[in-house]
Amino acid sequence: MTTSPEQYRMIYDMLNQVEVLSYDCGRLCHSVCCQPENDRDMGMYLFPGEEAVHDQKDPWLFWRKVKASDHQFPDGWPEEVWYVNCYGPAYCKRKKRPLQCRFFPVTAHLDEQDRLSLVRFDLELPYYCPLLEESFELNEDWLEAVWEAYHILIQDKAVYDMIKQESNDRIAVNESIHITYQKED
Ligand code: SF4
Ligand code: SF4
Repeated sequence: MTTSPEQYRMIYDMLNQVEVLSYDCGRLCHSVCCQPENDRDMGMYLFPGEEAVHDQKDPWLFWRKVKASDHQFPDGWPEEVWYVNCYGPAYCKRKKRPLQCRFFPVTAHLDEQDRLSLVRFDLELPYYCPLLEESFELNEDWLEAVWEAYHILIQDKAVYDMIKQESNDRIAVNESIHITYQKED
């Protein structure tokens, strides 16, 4: 079942109440993960249906559709996926930033029993994120809100399949997975 616009609004509201640290982590790195580069090369995929909570006429984001099959999305994803770029922190509408921005630097993990947890983002990045590379403690209320958001999102089979695929890849190359946050369903 695709996540409804009401559910996305609820997730956005919930995540607007929390922050990953008690101060802006962009101060640690000049917001390197938000810097547009290579003519807006860096951007964010939206989750299925997430576009419903955005006004595509608002020019703070640049919108385009990409083919799911060209970007390693599992079967079952819509044929086309929204991919948005922004113009950097000075123009960011923080309360409307996409979920991919809000979840970084953690991501969802499903173990063999399908228990949902959060792990540090572990794909290769073109920049140094202090929250990934150094021993910062992430706010518990932020972690709980991200976990709750993923818990809703994985009710959509397409999202579940994507998280499961990434988790299986992680399990295949890691002897032990370091869990950042876990909560009982
Ligand atoms: S998430 Fe990491 S890279 Fe992004 S602003 Fe915070 S510390 Fe910097
Ligand atoms: S939308 Fe905001 S949070 Fe997301 S990459 Fe752009 S500046 Fe950063």
